[in-house]
Amino acid sequence: MDIKGFERNLGRSAIAIGVAVAIALIGGRLLVARQADTEAQRREEQQVEHGVQGWIDELQARISGETCWDDALQNLGVRYDAGWAKANVGQFFSEMIGVERAYVLNGKDQPIYAMRDGEDKAPSEYTSFAGSASNLVALVRAREASLKPKPGTAPFKTLVSKPIQVTAVRIVDDLPYIVTATLVQPDFGRVPRPARAPIVVTGEALDGNFVEAFANRFLLKDLHIHPMGGLAAEANEAHVVLRDATGRPVARMDWSPQQPGMRLLWRTTPVVAVILALLSGWAYSLFIRGRKAAEGLQASESRSVHMALHDSLTGLPNRAYFYDRVAHAMAAMRRDGLPIGVLTLDLDRFKEVNDTLGHAAGDEMIIEAAARLKSICRTTDTVVRLGGDEFAILQPAADPQGLAALSQRILTVLSGPLELAAGKVFMSVSVGATLIVDPQTEAGEALRQADLAMYRAKEAGRDRFCFFEPEMDLALKARKSLEHDLRAALDEGALTMVYQPQVDGQRRITGVEALVRWNHPTRGPVSPAFFVPIAEDCGLIGDLGAFTLRRAFKDSLRWPHLTVAVNVSAVQLRAEGFAQEVAAILKESGADPSRIELEITEGVLLADDQAVHQTLKTLRAMGFTFALDDFGTGYSSLSYLRRYPVDKIKIDRSFVINIGAERDAEAVVGAIVRLAKALNLKVIAEGVETDEQRLGLRRAGCALIQGYLYSKPVTADAIESLIALRSPFGLEQAAA
Ligand code: C2E
Ligand code: CA
Ligand code: CA
Repeated sequence: MDIKGFERNLGRSAIAIGVAVAIALIGGRLLVARQADTEAQRREEQQVEHGVQGWIDELQARISGETCWDDALQNLGVRYDAGWAKANVGQFFSEMIGVERAYVLNGKDQPIYAMRDGEDKAPSEYTSFAGSASNLVALVRAREASLKPKPGTAPFKTLVSKPIQVTAVRIVDDLPYIVTATLVQPDFGRVPRPARAPIVVTGEALDGNFVEAFANRFLLKDLHIHPMGGLAAEANEAHVVLRDATGRPVARMDWSPQQPGMRLLWRTTPVVAVILALLSGWAYSLFIRGRKAAEGLQASESRSVHMALHDSLTGLPNRAYFYDRVAHAMAAMRRDGLPIGVLTLDLDRFKEVNDTLGHAAGDEMIIEAAARLKSICRTTDTVVRLGGDEFAILQPAADPQGLAALSQRILTVLSGPLELAAGKVFMSVSVGATLIVDPQTEAGEALRQADLAMYRAKEAGRDRFCFFEPEMDLALKARKSLEHDLRAALDEGALTMVYQPQVDGQRRITGVEALVRWNHPTRGPVSPAFFVPIAEDCGLIGDLGAFTLRRAFKDSLRWPHLTVAVNVSAVQLRAEGFAQEVAAILKESGADPSRIELEITEGVLLADDQAVHQTLKTLRAMGFTFALDDFGTGYSSLSYLRRYPVDKIKIDRSFVINIGAERDAEAVVGAIVRLAKALNLKVIAEGVETDEQRLGLRRAGCALIQGYLYSKPVTADAIESLIALRSPFGLEQAAA
């Protein structure tokens, strides 16, 4: 199970456990309470049953206390004393024993005395009670008859130890009674027992008084007694059935049983409720936490999936996503046979924007480019950001016309001035396109082809698109072999240096620029404009630069009156330990640093790299001077000139070339010159080929020139001859 599932399950289990515990607690408690209550009720019923029996026993005992008495036999049997009967049966039974009815039957079972509700009644009153008492009386008579006189004693003088008494519950006038028939017997035998002694019949009504007394004694709630067949027993009530002597149910006592279980349940409910609340709180929090964790995990999972496949700056998918889409497209191609198009594009001079206006501006430009790209692509096209300022587009079911049209649309939307927060820039893009027809082609290969085409577009002058052609592969291979050859050339010392004079207004040579040359064994001369960038790319620039510096420093000793300008590329300057390396070469050559002019480009200064800044300071401290090469081709912002130690600017050939051809060219150069002079900088113009240019430059305030007009770059020996000649040179003479 994954963590997400586990967390979710944890939450669910918490809920389940919580519910289960709650059910167990409530249900269990109820069950236990019920059981306790049933048990308690059963016991209560038993108690009441015993209680009733005890009540009857007590009643019987009290009755027999009054009837098993010589006096009673004397006054009720031997001779009937109405006064005695009234006092000792009527009054006493009513008040002391608490029966509602009391009757005295003679030996013939005829009523001779009657009392009802404490009052003497005519003996005939007994007839209303006789139906209920007659069989009890019969039972008493039967037992009286069974009394066997002990041998040797007078039959009627037997000491009575046991009362002869029968009790049963009977309904009389819809009211249950405890009816008791008791034989009047002697106690000490002073009065002889007649053959049939009188019988006292009593009736204790199970009325309100009884209910109250009984309920009080046994602490019964809601006790009521009613004849059998009356009210149906209620389920939640306890009951005891009162039976007659034969065991026939006569009446039923109902009451609300004590419910100790329920009582306990209710009493403990607040505590349990609190426990339950805490428990459910805990369960809920676990559930929520589980769900949150699961959601969080899910969110972070999809976030990380998104992040893994998308670029955070533009929101566009990334390279990984692109590879995946290409694989899908290849699978589709295997089915439908339709080729796919892959484009790569790279913003032109993006690095300069980044360097000049800062990374925020670069980011802004990339975001804008991404948005515009997306806007012109079909939904079936996949636009991704490969990294930096590089994008790629995958077009399924493509054809050359469609790809060309898409490339053109890209050029249209991505070319033109762009307003950024930090300033206005000119945006353009170079696009490479390739059409993949072989479904076995891998995404990496498709991108490589498109990249090659894109480099071709860059080489061809940027702001254009190029289709991949198999020859490009050959060009790449050629470049690879060139790298190999350059390495060999460096190792074998096959590179040479040439120097191009720099002359003042009086055509005096004031300095030279050192330029590297490579005469390839099979290709012939290769331009440094071509192989220096290759050296930078393949890590040979360090060796190349060291060679250049070493040779230039050494050759500088040959011309004590000239400055020697040496080109130093940005890659060289950024290399760690560059200043130390230069110092070592300087020491080794014995050159005078004040006559060495290091030519750097604007980009180096614009990057505003702290390390580069430090390197420049170190070099300056060593005595070197700096010239800003190709001035005017980049951003031409002069603000950095204040911050950096530059001594001279070199007006680029592109300005010079227009002098005489374009009306404003001279004015522009004039402005640059004035600006440079205001900043106390020397100015030189390079690429001067004509006298017209020379004159125009002079009018603009720039007398110092370098170019074919005076001399092409020549060998060090040739420079020496040039100095020796000390005569004005024409273009023809100077050509090397
Ligand atoms: P750069 O520093 O701007 O050098 C000036 C280039 O313009 C040289 O090309 C030079 O031969 C050429 N040039 C000079 N006068 C004229 C002219 O009147 N008309 C025309 N059309 N061109 C002229 P090169 O020697 O091919 O060098 C090309 C670039 O290679 C240089 O541009 C420089 O950036 C780089 N480079 C050359 N030598 C070195 C070197 O020793 N070290 C480094 N790091 N870079 C070098
Ligand atoms: Ca230069
Ligand atoms: Ca230059």
